Amino acid sequence: MVWGIEESKRETAIANRVLAEVGLATGALAALGHASMRVPSDPDKFVVKGRGYPIDALSRMRPDDMVVCDLDGNKLDGPANIGQCFEVKIHSTIYKSHPEVNGVVHVHPRYTVMLSVQQARIVPMCPEGVQMVRNPLPLYNHMRMISTEEEGMEVANTMAASPGILLRGHGAVTAAASVDQAVMNMLGLEEQAKMNWYARCAFGPDYQGIPDELVDDMIDFLVNPTWLELPHLKGNLSTNQVNGVWNHYSELVSRDI
Ligand SMILES: [Zn+2]
Repeated sequence: MVWGIEESKRETAIANRVLAEVGLATGALAALGHASMRVPSDPDKFVVKGRGYPIDALSRMRPDDMVVCDLDGNKLDGPANIGQCFEVKIHSTIYKSHPEVNGVVHVHPRYTVMLSVQQARIVPMCPEGVQMVRNPLPLYNHMRMISTEEEGMEVANTMAASPGILLRGHGAVTAAASVDQAVMNMLGLEEQAKMNWYARCAFGPDYQGIPDELVDDMIDFLVNPTWLELPHLKGNLSTNQVNGVWNHYSELVSRDI
């Protein structure tokens, strides 16, 4: 079944809740950021968290709170008195210029923001999110919010084929083939940023990252799972068992919606 608006609203609400549940939108950041997804049955529309709720926190989002927009960021549908998120142009310009993208996340993750201020490259430090930092992430060198079409297009074009972009002193954006992947990419990016900060504190600014050849070897291990054919594993495992973190958190946050 191809998902329509209603299924997309529910998935988008869950994605926003997961961002809070994993700590990417908590405390001072509880109301900051938004996840969106392109509507599979109508790819010229996307669903996104809005702005103006009586309690405006990502952790509280429900399917009916979601706003439907076109690829120019105009509101097509949603609750009365609720607008699009202020930075809706981040989402609309990426969907417009990247037809392969079906999910976009923008939040203000603490460690990622800190390293973006330093303009320090986030290097591979652990397996989680390694695909996000295997190559240097592009940096949008402005702190201001993204509100105009031109600003949105600059972010989308600077991101280009990268899985994400740093907004200096502000936050980060991830884009992926699905909204759950965009959420997991953001979580992985923040994990890498945190590990980079720890390494910087422990070893100084010249700390070591994981060498490229070791990262390439690990990624090859994952994308070419020849190990599934090993005698002791054969028939017992499948590559479908890789979404454990998303499945856990999405089930946890969707029990009352
Ligand atoms: Zn922002």
